[in-house]
Amino acid sequence: YSSVEVTQAYLDRIHQLDSRYNSFITVTAEQALAQAAAADAARAAGNATPWSGVPMAHKDIFCTDGVLTTCGSKMLGNFVAPYNATVVSNFNSAGAVSLGKLNMDEFAMGSSNESSFFGAVKNPWHPEHVPGGSSGGSAAAVAARLIPGATATDTGGSIRQPAAFCGVTGIKPTYGRVSRWGMIAFASSLDQGGTITRTAEDSAMMLNVMAGFDPKDSTSMQRDVPDYTANLNDSIAGLTIGLPKEYFRDDLSSAMQQQVRNAIAEYEKLGATVKEISLPNTHLAIPVYYVIAPSECSANLSRMDGVRFGHRCEDPQDVNDLFKRSRGEGFGEEVKRRIMVGTYALSAGFYDAYYKKAQQVRRLIKNDFVEAFKQVDVIMSPTTPSPAFRAGEKTSDPVAMYLEDIFTIAINLAGLPAMSIPCGQIDNLPVGLQLIGNYFDESRLLNLGHQFQ
Ligand code: GLN
Repeated sequence: YSSVEVTQAYLDRIHQLDSRYNSFITVTAEQALAQAAAADAARAAGNATPWSGVPMAHKDIFCTDGVLTTCGSKMLGNFVAPYNATVVSNFNSAGAVSLGKLNMDEFAMGSSNESSFFGAVKNPWHPEHVPGGSSGGSAAAVAARLIPGATATDTGGSIRQPAAFCGVTGIKPTYGRVSRWGMIAFASSLDQGGTITRTAEDSAMMLNVMAGFDPKDSTSMQRDVPDYTANLNDSIAGLTIGLPKEYFRDDLSSAMQQQVRNAIAEYEKLGATVKEISLPNTHLAIPVYYVIAPSECSANLSRMDGVRFGHRCEDPQDVNDLFKRSRGEGFGEEVKRRIMVGTYALSAGFYDAYYKKAQQVRRLIKNDFVEAFKQVDVIMSPTTPSPAFRAGEKTSDPVAMYLEDIFTIAINLAGLPAMSIPCGQIDNLPVGLQLIGNYFDESRLLNLGHQFQ
């Protein structure tokens, strides 16, 4: 098949099926077919690369030149980005075909993809259940086979949790591995781009395109990028897997325990050994994250003021009225809640008690992992406390929603890489196994994922 035929087949599938899932905000058919035609021409000229003509799509948090970039918000509901994110440029240069922009929780805040201005996303396994969030569009589209792979972002679990809920593979690389330039900022010290695909092998191929130093991102790491596909088939015999006792508490359902422990037993059959470890500050991760993330988001979102781009209210009386009404109308409830919490935590008089204290505890959480990786090569846990919950179940209780992130958030606070792979099902809903690696050890996570699949 030519790239144009493959692209058309995916576009047809999206057209036929996505009304069920709502995983796309924008489908860029014309642009995709032009990219596919260019890939066919490159192939005819003998210049094809491994990525020539490969269809994929971007989470709508990545700026795409000339294409609507909404971040799931009314605030950016009319925003056509004037430039490409580095990640988007990398895929374009590699010859990939972008089919469009994927739905997400508003400004990537959420764990269920119910907070998007463009409507909730449905879990392809069961339409009454959520796909997870915030990269729910990415996960649902890959699970429904509307695309083979998607970009996504993870500030506190937003790649791994939806991957787990939709039965697909998601990897969040080490903080600083993938450029954040052109990725709309939520919490800058936590945000990291990554991938959602069916398999670890596909994730490795995507990371080969995404990872690398970018002078436009001051926290991007100047460090060589390995070929992430090179070690997929390495033996894992002799590897030590750490199981944090704080992640396998008695209140984790026995069905969940069983699925995850069965998966770990497969690794033991492949020659790995298991060791119990302790991450004693685990219980502090959620409170610390829900001070730091809102604080950083309150600063980042201050640029959405209705002046230069994005939503602007009708007939403002004066500049204060313009700010107030544009923001009041443009932001949804969860985003407003976080801006309020963050502004409070950063305000004079409270900064030391909240933001600074949270940063200090964050260091303790990171140190737990540094100590653990002196004893083990990889850490494993469930990705989520349970399979996908029902739509509407947690929307009226923000704290219940925040508790969803219990196994994923500490990893962002520490800046470590982690991956979720499908490892079983409970009541016909998929369950994810989380693999947590040491800094820049993405290749090992991909190797372990591939060995399981
Ligand atoms: N559920 C988390 C939050 O709402 C995760 C968000 C993310 O990783 N982008 O903040």
